[in-house]
Amino acid sequence: MINEQMYAYGAESSKIREIFSYACARKAEIGAENVFDFSLGNPSIPAPDAVRKSIERSLAEIPAAELHGYTPAPGLPAAREAVAASLNRRFGTAYTAADVFMTVGAAASVSCTLRAVTCPGDEVIVIAPYFPEYRVWIEAAGAVCVEVPADPETFQIDPAAVAAAITPRTAAVIIDSPNNPTGAIYPRETLQALAAELERVNQAREQQLGHPQPIVLISDEPYREITYGAEVPWVPALYEHTVVCYSYSKSLSLPGERVGWILVPQVSEGARRVMAAVAGAARALGFVCAPALFQRVVIDCVDTPTDVEAYARNRRMLTQALAEAGYTYVEPDGAFYLWVRALEPDAEAFCERARAFELLPVPSDSFGVGGWVRVGYCVAPETIERSLPAWRALAESYR
Ligand code: PLP
Repeated sequence: MINEQMYAYGAESSKIREIFSYACARKAEIGAENVFDFSLGNPSIPAPDAVRKSIERSLAEIPAAELHGYTPAPGLPAAREAVAASLNRRFGTAYTAADVFMTVGAAASVSCTLRAVTCPGDEVIVIAPYFPEYRVWIEAAGAVCVEVPADPETFQIDPAAVAAAITPRTAAVIIDSPNNPTGAIYPRETLQALAAELERVNQAREQQLGHPQPIVLISDEPYREITYGAEVPWVPALYEHTVVCYSYSKSLSLPGERVGWILVPQVSEGARRVMAAVAGAARALGFVCAPALFQRVVIDCVDTPTDVEAYARNRRMLTQALAEAGYTYVEPDGAFYLWVRALEPDAEAFCERARAFELLPVPSDSFGVGGWVRVGYCVAPETIERSLPAWRALAESYR
């Protein structure tokens, strides 16, 4: 006897992983330098030196039994305090360790939050295009994934469209800015408009039910630090019922080490219950006690800057060349993805043709919309440089 839903997730795997596996096999066949793999969001720049120093210091100074032992379920108090203090310095807030729950990366942050704030049959709104795992995590919680299209030109949130999709079963909305896959950053005014729509629903609900039942805004922010100049507004300052999900996978280039956090500002009895449910969800899902060594890295590196310049250079090189070759794309304000319009309506067919040129972007169908591809430019600059003739030849093949 197996769970057919889980079987299906395992059997189908993700399109991104499938392309990545093809890339590995193809590289073995024709040489790594001849394959242009733009599939994964694996940071191409190494973790900062401060990470190595922190690990070395921990290994030298902390007895092994303590260093590698279990931490408290929500994380080391010092790690939670360090995160709260860093946020307070940056956003003028007054968080404490009690507002922070250390997790096993953003995947766990979002999964635990969804499990905490939904009941089976509840609806969770995502903005299409969206990170494909959202659907898996939502459905695994027994909830229903409701797609609301972003603006088709700018890929910004349309707050009125979100409001129109809200029903009495809407429990949460997930946003992701800087955005995977489009690179869009949601400006303050857009987030304020979204918050106003959600507040309006919350007030109507409270009047009807006789008790508050606010919609939770899940702000998934693994790319917060990767911005090319645009402000990434602090969402809890704009909407009270925000839960922030964070990870160091991208900002410190540590995707394999699995460390991040959930922030639930303890501003009300309702928020305290949400945090308790987050702790319960982490327990139920087996995500307690994030990796101890890397919680200590967080203590030491919580304010270590991200080397955005390397991604900025890749972004410049790729966008200039693709524009010259006649492609259209969304100018990315953040993250390390370029959202490029496919040169035919069927993005899967376009990606098939791109394969003949050894170009491996991800078709947009995986992200819930048709007609586009995601090009992950978190790769070595030489990969981009070598790929440019192939991009030009691909465009030429459509003329
Ligand atoms: N959320 C988004 C938008 C992502 O792009 C990713 C990873 O690419 C995750 C969550 C998962 O991040 P993590 O590796 O920290 O679990």
